[in-house]
Amino acid sequence: MKSPVLRLIAWEVTRQCPLRCRHCRASATSEEYKGEFSTEECLKFLDNLSAMGNPIVILTGGEPMAREDIYEIASYGTGLGLRMVMAPCGVYIDDETVEKLKASGIQRISLSIDGADRESHDAFRQWDGAYDAVVQAACTAREHGLEFQVNTTVTRLNYRELDRIVNLAVDLGAVSYHPFLLVPTGRGKAMAEYEIDAAEYEDVLTWIYEKSKDLPIQMKPTCAPHYYRLLRQKEHAAGRKVTPGTHGLSAMTKGCLGGQGFAFVSHTGNVQICGFLDTSAGDIRNEDFNFRKIWDTSNLFLKMRDLEGYRGKCGVCDYRTVCGGCRARAFASSGDYLGEEPYCVYEPRKMHDSTLIG
Ligand code: SF4
Ligand code: SF4
Repeated sequence: MKSPVLRLIAWEVTRQCPLRCRHCRASATSEEYKGEFSTEECLKFLDNLSAMGNPIVILTGGEPMAREDIYEIASYGTGLGLRMVMAPCGVYIDDETVEKLKASGIQRISLSIDGADRESHDAFRQWDGAYDAVVQAACTAREHGLEFQVNTTVTRLNYRELDRIVNLAVDLGAVSYHPFLLVPTGRGKAMAEYEIDAAEYEDVLTWIYEKSKDLPIQMKPTCAPHYYRLLRQKEHAAGRKVTPGTHGLSAMTKGCLGGQGFAFVSHTGNVQICGFLDTSAGDIRNEDFNFRKIWDTSNLFLKMRDLEGYRGKCGVCDYRTVCGGCRARAFASSGDYLGEEPYCVYEPRKMHDSTLIG
């Protein structure tokens, strides 16, 4: 079977980070990490990625700006025709660094706002001053004409503030808003008690659906695969179809793209379906940085693309081609990454049929 096109790759260029956010997937710290790529290895990796087409490359971390050679890496990728974007934590963003990011071809940065005000955001980020820093970073990016999106990790601590957070993002000049649903891995494991439950999850997805209708910027729920089920349920109930003509990208994308259009590469070169499922599809160094080989042949990626192999509700669901459930949440809750998404209230029709039969 032909491999899907790689559209997006998140590359953890370093795990080092000055912050200690509660939900951190990487449990990053300010210490130096062993085994990270040299500059030469980074450039070789980008050469191999450019052979895959022109995916969007998200330089992430840790704090990607903690690497001294980050501008060289970004410039090199830009020169190869890759679409380079970055996910910094914001503390190193100032007039000088924004200009350097722009000069290296960075097309967009993402900034995380997890609380609607100083008290709430600083508590989440476990750092007094985090709110002022991210607001300052957003203002600096806007003043210099560098596009930015705002991300929020949704938990029990902030889901009632989402309306205020998205309004703040619009006021700051963000081009897009991305609510992420918490995946309890890394330091986020300790946040399991702050996870919203399946019914609250459904409420958040419904809020996203309603709010998107009149928001002046794009809103893209991320790692919330069953949003694409809910979108269709709502539109079909109103007698409308979901098509690229009526719903743009939302009609064309799939809920979880892990291993199917998206991949993650860790700071030591482990290739994964995403940063939240810590299962390796291969070590890029062992393959002499040949990403295509892992993308085309890894057993893990092949399993992700075979929806017939999914288990539980997701395995029989009539929405699995547009949703697929979160494989990382399935793994965190049951130890089976092909198991069912634990935070979905939907009862697939086939499930009912087989219950009746058997
Ligand atoms: S049962 Fe699984 S595939 Fe179906 S909508 Fe829920 S999460 Fe998605
Ligand atoms: S497995 Fe979950 S966390 Fe990973 S990309 Fe898919 S939806 Fe996102």
